[in-house]
Amino acid sequence: MYKGSREQGVDYFDDVLGNNDEAGILKGQGLADFDSVKEQITPEGVAVSQLSCHSCGTKKNITISWEELFYVSQNRPGGPLMLPEGWSRSERNMSCYIQMKCPKCGEAGFAVHYTPDEARNRLRQASDAGFIDQAMVTEWAQKIAMYAPRR
Ligand SMILES: [Zn+2]
Repeated sequence: MYKGSREQGVDYFDDVLGNNDEAGILKGQGLADFDSVKEQITPEGVAVSQLSCHSCGTKKNITISWEELFYVSQNRPGGPLMLPEGWSRSERNMSCYIQMKCPKCGEAGFAVHYTPDEARNRLRQASDAGFIDQAMVTEWAQKIAMYAPRR
């Protein structure tokens, strides 16, 4: 799995994804469709700001960790379902999402969706920015392998 020193733009997520030829058809409605939401790449993960509660409109900012996005990125058609703790899968949107309670009205008013493709794009950006490295990816892949053995 050693590929030499890390270069800008090298996609080493392909290593753990195996055959990802089908990833391109995973075009769903992800976070990008929520046009008022802002995403920022940070060392901790993607900081999502200006989420608003579906029920009362309260604004909230949250950070999705790189580890969570990595698990989301590992989903592909016909493959095993990979969900970070607390996440669900939306068949309709072809995405994974996490839903959160609103501190103001108590409804599950916040949801952040990522398709596997979107997660992969963010991970590449994080890799280019130096926020994640091969060792972290390897560790996450090993965690996945522990509870979802590859066929
Ligand atoms: Zn609310």
